[in-house]
Amino acid sequence: MEFEGRYRQAQRPKYECLLFDLDDTLYPYNSGIASQCRKNIEDYMVEKLGIEESKIPDMCNLLYKYYGTTMAGLRAIGYNFNYDDYHSFVHGRLPYDKLKPDPVLRHLLLNLPIRKVIFTNADKIHAAKVLNKLGLEDCFEGIICFETLNAQSNSSSPCDPTAATNIFNILEHFSQPAAGSELPKTPIQCKPSMDAMEHALRIANISPQRSIFFDDSVRNIQSGKSIGLHTVLVGNSHRVKGADHALESIHNIKEALPELWEEAEKSEDVRYKGKVAIETSVTA
Ligand SMILES: [Mg+2]
Repeated sequence: MEFEGRYRQAQRPKYECLLFDLDDTLYPYNSGIASQCRKNIEDYMVEKLGIEESKIPDMCNLLYKYYGTTMAGLRAIGYNFNYDDYHSFVHGRLPYDKLKPDPVLRHLLLNLPIRKVIFTNADKIHAAKVLNKLGLEDCFEGIICFETLNAQSNSSSPCDPTAATNIFNILEHFSQPAAGSELPKTPIQCKPSMDAMEHALRIANISPQRSIFFDDSVRNIQSGKSIGLHTVLVGNSHRVKGADHALESIHNIKEALPELWEEAEKSEDVRYKGKVAIETSVTA
């Protein structure tokens, strides 16, 4: 029995899954998508939710900072809106043509015989469009997206102005803090909430200790580290607390994590050489 245990251990690769954020991770931040996305969110807040334009930049910063996404923050402070309507407004008009096929990344991913899963806060339509534009649609086993974590249907009308009568004033909360005033909770599950991330891993049957998480957001990386994932900050070559590695570009993945390809080669050897290779690694 003991031999069997050692035998299995010797054959078990260190990592079994790579978990990738999508936006600004699989393509560069300066693609033009991120800036237009922010603009669309601001327009939604003015046009659909009737928020005063002068308050938008500060509100966006606070909501994003404290709730993970502006959308999660808007719901927390009392705005009620239809999620699909929000996503189609914010993502539906993005300049997707700025994203070009990435055959280099495609080749890198397809040569790794290990589970690869997307984990994004965005909706499934956006995720599918981005992957399609990058030419990576067949490189991943699955996509964990907004709908995966927020499966309960949201039946609000596209925008319900009657629901906007009791809004928590987040600007005042921070500029003139009142004793006992607490930030309301959001009903939306998203990164970097550790609960949401653990929920996502359970859904996809991913063991954090045996997975590597790639994301361009420092706080997502730090939450990932806290729940036991190995972490790679993308888009910045300076390693921060919580990041095991830092890559300027996702294209540097092979230089930063050569062991992934070494393990892949080893497993290829085992596959082709059969029993002999297995016995060799057991006695090594
Ligand atoms: Mg991102």
